[in-house]
Amino acid sequence: MTSGPGNSVPERGNYGSEVTNFGGNVRFRPGRLVMPRTETEVCRLVMQHRADGVRVVGSRHAWSPLIRTEGLLLDLRHFDSVRLFEDAGQLLVSVGAGCQISRLLQSLNRSGLTLPSVGLITEQTVAGAISTATHGSGRHSLSHYVQRLRVVQFNSAGDGVEARWIEGGAELRAARCSLGAMGVVTEVVFAVVPQYRIQEQMVAAGSLTEVLQMEQETPLQQFFLIPHLWSFYVQRRCESTERGGRWTDELYRVYWFLVMDLGLHLIVLLTAVFLRSRSLVKLFYSKLLPWAIVSSWKPVDRSDRQLVMEHELFRHIEEELFVRRRDLASALALVRDLLRVADDRSWRLSEESCNQLRQVGLLGEVSEIEGQWSHHYPICVRRVRADAAMISMSAGDGEDWYSISLISYERSRPEFLRFAGFVGAALIRLYGARPHWGKWFPEGEIRADLYSELPEFLSWVRRADPEGVFRRGFTGRVLGMSE
Ligand SMILES: Cc1cc2nc3c(=O)[nH]c(=O)nc-3n(C[C@H](O)[C@H](O)[C@H](O)COP(=O)(O)OP(=O)(O)OC[C@H]3O[C@@H](n4cnc5c(N)ncnc54)[C@H](O)[C@@H]3O)c2cc1C
Repeated sequence: MTSGPGNSVPERGNYGSEVTNFGGNVRFRPGRLVMPRTETEVCRLVMQHRADGVRVVGSRHAWSPLIRTEGLLLDLRHFDSVRLFEDAGQLLVSVGAGCQISRLLQSLNRSGLTLPSVGLITEQTVAGAISTATHGSGRHSLSHYVQRLRVVQFNSAGDGVEARWIEGGAELRAARCSLGAMGVVTEVVFAVVPQYRIQEQMVAAGSLTEVLQMEQETPLQQFFLIPHLWSFYVQRRCESTERGGRWTDELYRVYWFLVMDLGLHLIVLLTAVFLRSRSLVKLFYSKLLPWAIVSSWKPVDRSDRQLVMEHELFRHIEEELFVRRRDLASALALVRDLLRVADDRSWRLSEESCNQLRQVGLLGEVSEIEGQWSHHYPICVRRVRADAAMISMSAGDGEDWYSISLISYERSRPEFLRFAGFVGAALIRLYGARPHWGKWFPEGEIRADLYSELPEFLSWVRRADPEGVFRRGFTGRVLGMSE
């Protein structure tokens, strides 16, 4: 399908309305917001707004300002079809770009199927999730499982737009996670797997070595560095052949919702945000939290129930940094040291931390975070397998990546962003850490050498969009393509 410049656009535009993301940290008025229903309409709109710039919005769950535009903002919520089919003996699902992951999972589950991996929540749209390489723990990111995708982009002559399938090779690896810079994704084809069950157990661990040893038995685990307790809790997870569904498994769901999804978060909100009491936050993590965790419980449940949380119930802001497995111990030790000095200015950084910070020109700036930020949320660490994508955070040659996330409920406090910015700068400069594209990160620290395949990715972006229509503003800046 090709559309030329002369086509008119149906007037379904919403001019001047404010768009806000989940975190509330991105607010803007696009020149025009439209919810098209067909690819033909998408093609016409792109041509019509070629001079203004075009971005696409999903469920607005990214904290980075990827969706911000003064031009046309497309919302593909009407592209929500789900179709199962077989190709060369492989079962695949073709999904409309604007379909929410929760809806896709429900639909797959009715056929005894599911996605190979899911993130902590399922509110995102399919295209939004893959565009920033949304991931869970122990598997690849969702982008890796994209088998082909359909996208509206400029034709090779550059004088019109077309909707076409990207089906394989280097172009597919580029398109699997492309921040919306390769055009408007309208449909995504994923590999699917038979529905499976997960056994879970929450246990304490004194050291990172102990945590990583557990991975042998529970490869889908994620773990938390608990602030103020300064030790680990591991959410051990593995596939299970047990049926599950016992009353104790159901009770676990209720417990998790009331104690973790609601209770923990309400206490953190009350102590850290409303009362702003460092001592109560410390008391909670060091004395009360250990009591709330029942380590003897080993519930079994369906994967799409066990692997997710109600993490979207309370608005927060998050930075997530990916380091290679070989750097995890050192990076985590540094993060812990920085959390402690930010909490207590009398804390003495280790010699190793001082040397590292000196090496990357940050030692002199520690004074800006000393005693300025008392962290109030567990630091979640997840393992993500190397992706067959060019610029996903775990794109690579086989070595596992570990994401370290810093979450704050204080969304408007500059102290958190200053602290997160410092940690981001330190990990990027020292370890070549990659920030999650969909989360908050210090924009100025992004370097071209973080992704070995970035030059090839950029050549695919130029081919799809020679004039930079899909990469105005933030997207172009972080890709180093500002025109
Ligand atoms: C509470 C919460 C929990 C989260 N948990 C996780 C997690 O467990 N793991 C994880 O990795 N991330 C997680 N995230 C981050 C989230 O998965 C990503 O930010 C994701 O990109 C959001 O998808 P979205 O549909 O909301 O897209 P948006 O935020 O609306 O957009 C994200 C990007 O996708 C692009 N895009 C959207 N649709 C299209 C399209 N049709 N064509 C081209 N480009 C498009 C946008 O232009 C933008 O660049 C979480 C976020 C929140 C708020």
